[in-house]
This record gives sequence, C-alpha cells and structure tokens, in this order.
Amino acid sequence: MNALPSVKLIDGKATAARVLAEVREQVQELRHGGVQPGLAVVLVGADAASQVYVRNKVLRAEEVGIRSLEHRLPTDTTQAHLLTLIDRLNRDPEVNGILVQLPLPTHIDEHRVLQAISPLKDVDGFHSENVGGLAQGRDVLTPCTPSGCMRLLRDACGELRGKHAVVVGRSNIVGKPMAALLLQADCTVTVVHSRSRDLPALCRQADILVAAVGKPRLIGADWLKPGAVVIDVGINRVDDGGHSRLVGDVDFAAALPQVAGITPVPGGVGPMTIAYLMKNTLLALDLQQQAAHQERTACLSPC
Ligand code: NAD
Repeated sequence: MNALPSVKLIDGKATAARVLAEVREQVQELRHGGVQPGLAVVLVGADAASQVYVRNKVLRAEEVGIRSLEHRLPTDTTQAHLLTLIDRLNRDPEVNGILVQLPLPTHIDEHRVLQAISPLKDVDGFHSENVGGLAQGRDVLTPCTPSGCMRLLRDACGELRGKHAVVVGRSNIVGKPMAALLLQADCTVTVVHSRSRDLPALCRQADILVAAVGKPRLIGADWLKPGAVVIDVGINRVDDGGHSRLVGDVDFAAALPQVAGITPVPGGVGPMTIAYLMKNTLLALDLQQQAAHQERTACLSPC
C-alpha cells in the first residue's frame, strides 16, 4: 500500500507538542518573575479510565512546570465534603486551575459541584458563567477539547471566516461549545444530532466537519464533501479481528482519499485536549491577575 500523503493528516500529537512547548516557555517566564501556576485535579472514586486521565494530566502539568495538586477522594465522599474542598481550592492563591474529573459518583450532583468552582479557576470551562460568556463571545475559559479542535482547524485551514462548519453531536462538553467557537470564528454553523433528519445530506454541505458522537465509523466517505476538513473527536474501542483498538466516528480509511485534511484516532484531538488544559491554566492565572488588578484599582479610585 502507498504511504498516506502526510499533508492530509492533521497531526494532533505534533501540534499538541508545540502547544506544550509554548506553555513551558510561558511558565518559565512566570517562574523567573516568582510565580508558579498551580493546577488542582480532584478525582472522586476509583473509575479506571478516570484514574488514567488524571495521571496523564498531572504528568503533563509537571512536564511543563505547572505545580499539580492531586486530590484523590474515596467513592463514598459526601457532596458536602467535596464542596468544602472546592471552596478551599477557590481561596488558595497557589491554585490557579481546578479540575474535577467526571463522571462523579451518582450520589453527587455534578452540576452543583461544577457551579461551585470559581469561574476564574474553571479550566474545563463548564461553569455557567463561562458557558454564557462563550455564547456571548466574551474572553472566558472555554472547554479544552473544542479549544484544541479550533487550533487544529486554524492551522489546517488558515482563515475560517465564511466556511460552512457542521458539528455532529450536541453535548455540553464538545458539540455545543465547538459550535459556539466556530460561530465566534465567523463560520456558518450547523449542529446535527441523533434526531436530525437526513444526516448524510447535512454533512455533505460541510467545508469543515467536526464529529463528536461516540459511534465507531458512523460517518462514511459518502457523507463528506470532497475537499472537506474533518476533525474526528470520537474515541471508540472496537474489536478488530480479535484485537482491541481505538477508532473515531469517521471511517478514516474511506474518508482519506477525498478530504483535504483529517485527524487520525488516536493521535488527533486526544493530545490537544490535555495541551489545552495546560494552556487554560495559564489563561486562568492571567484572568485572576487581571481581576486582582481591577480590584486594587477600584479600591484606590475615589468613591
Ligand atoms: P455524548 O454522548 O455526551 O454526546 C454525543 C452526541 O452525539 C449527542 O449530542 C447525540 O445527540 C449525538 N448522537 C448520538 N447518536 C447519533 C447519531 N447516530 N447521529 C448523530 N448524532 C448522534 O458524547 P461526548 O461527550 O460529546 O463525546 C463524543 C465522543 O467524543 C465520544 O466518543 C467521546 O469519547 C469523545 N471525546 C473525545 C475527547 C478527546 O479528548 N478526544 C474529549 C471528549 C469526548
């Protein structure tokens, strides 16, 4: 088989390495000025996948020089106890970012917990204030996966203005914020989902297609406009002739010959999510410094 033309592959691993190098440089500068950014990661329970995600986040933070503070709590942790911890982290000046790994055990109200995180430390961008800010086009902390997708798209397409972007999936974590970010970048945006009619026809209109569904190889080549740029967020484990492997929501091999660019799974969006968590930690620090400055200025100005 011929080697795949590398220009078509949108290499998330390589881009994430560049983002992390930028973050590392900024952290070094901050540390020369006597400031070390801090990221608190909270894990409740013993979910195996969550443990791996948390370990990776902590390792990546340490690699770029961000102080990581890990809080591992037992499954039977009460909601009150978790809220007390978040309150303490909100007040801790050494903590710039707070991430509560999802899912939480069922006896804990996820929404209540996410709302308890200070919006200025909300590095996942899930607090209503940040969700609303994104919808209004304000400069706020935005969810890591869609933010990482935007970087891949800007690198692959250059100008996004006027392009028709179709987002498949409308979750709060990926689909909806992705659509808002694309809108902010002046794309014409269509969001399609499990109740949409004639998905293939809607997808065929896309100059940019973002798939965030969680269904292996749902999107075949005949759903794609020739020359489209495809970002495949889906991560699905499948059994491939007795071997377990990861595939996306797009049939990668079938799509490749007709697209202008496509992210592989793995090695596409996944590494960008963690890189943008680090970037968001620095953005959070910056927002906190701005807020502190505004507070000082307000105190000094005569009433
Ligand atoms: P979700 O289950 O919360 O949302 C899935 C969305 O897909 C829903 O809005 C639903 O309406 C839509 N959908 C379901 N079936 C459909 C169909 N047949 N046709 C069209 N739309 C359909 O999932 P999520 O959290 O948004 O994650 C989506 C995928 O992205 C999953 O595979 C997840 O593992 C992956 N993911 C990857 C990363 C990463 O870092 N790469 C981050 C988050 C999620």
